[in-house]
Amino acid sequence: MKKDNAPAALTNQEVARYSRHLIMPEVGMEGQLKLKAARALCVGAGGLGSPVALYLAAAGVGTLGIVDFDEVDYSNLQRQIIHGTPDVGRSKLESAKTRLNALNPEVEVVTHEMALSAQNALALFADYDLVIDGTDNFPTRYLVNDACVLGAKPNVYGSIFRFEGQVSVFATKDGPCYRCMFPEPPPPGLVPSCAEGGVLGILPGVVGTLQATEAIKLILGVGESLAGRFLLFDALKMRFRELKVRKDPDCPVCGEHPTVTQLIDYEQFCGVVPVTPEGAPTPEVADEVTVEQLKTRLDRQDTFLLLDVREPQEFQICRIPGSVLIPLGDLRSRLSEVEGRDDIVVHCKSGVRSGKAVTLLREAGYGTARNLKGGILAWIDRIDPTLPKY
Ligand SMILES: [Zn+2]
Repeated sequence: MKKDNAPAALTNQEVARYSRHLIMPEVGMEGQLKLKAARALCVGAGGLGSPVALYLAAAGVGTLGIVDFDEVDYSNLQRQIIHGTPDVGRSKLESAKTRLNALNPEVEVVTHEMALSAQNALALFADYDLVIDGTDNFPTRYLVNDACVLGAKPNVYGSIFRFEGQVSVFATKDGPCYRCMFPEPPPPGLVPSCAEGGVLGILPGVVGTLQATEAIKLILGVGESLAGRFLLFDALKMRFRELKVRKDPDCPVCGEHPTVTQLIDYEQFCGVVPVTPEGAPTPEVADEVTVEQLKTRLDRQDTFLLLDVREPQEFQICRIPGSVLIPLGDLRSRLSEVEGRDDIVVHCKSGVRSGKAVTLLREAGYGTARNLKGGILAWIDRIDPTLPKY
């Protein structure tokens, strides 16, 4: 895309490698040289980032940046196909780079080992022609959107949950942005993450491959992009639907009179960090028990109800002995089952859902309900490492 440093020609080996592209009129030598000169940034080396990076590298995108700060975990391998079992414990970036270099040594893989933030996003994006959003949370999604609008970089968006995926292209010259469609994030906790709700392993493969396709088309300047269209994919029904997205003249970031003219605090914007006066104890803290305290109470056979508010599938994987399962979604209608129990400890996987259950129980008059801090994951880490982690 950058004409000033466009390579003049392909080597014979590159001609052989890209021959199936070169014989297509829509790509040809000119298109392949555009791909070679292009600089694409993939945010995340996870489920979506895996197919995106693999296909962009295979296609010969000359410079491929990847941002991530995570390590490969066993629970990643069901969908993050850029990583393998021997990579567990390695940095995702190192693992991805090894795989991409093996796939196509002609591509320069640039690793950015950091958490994308309002402080670094604009400077990072400035080095690239387009951004592919492979994030899995709302603060980073709004951050990527705003940084793309402010930096005038197309944002190839994708998101996944269970069997459903979404794809679009935002922040093109005349197209809408993510905020034109979703001006405000959903209330925190309303939309579960893949870590909480699960995701079909192949879903990021489908969605990420669509993102890679859009990225290649943008670089080549061919076809009709998804800018102005929002594609919905339902893997269970095997159906695609499409929504029209119009640029909103009142959009706070890409509208005619934008109010967001620099990057903001996205954790706060998305309500992830509750706004509390400095020094004031957050009410949750007083309502919490630690896994060590729970262990002590279980060992001395205290009379209390240990309530597990996860889903039955999670209960099947691992459970704390003596716990009673009532999934959070059923709790309100099954309150009679905890009637008369004035000493309740609630837990879930990591403490988020059980926090909501404690609020619900307290509103229903169970004033002593308390949340197990860190959930069963903390229990496994610190009390019983023989249980499987998920
Ligand atoms: Zn907008």
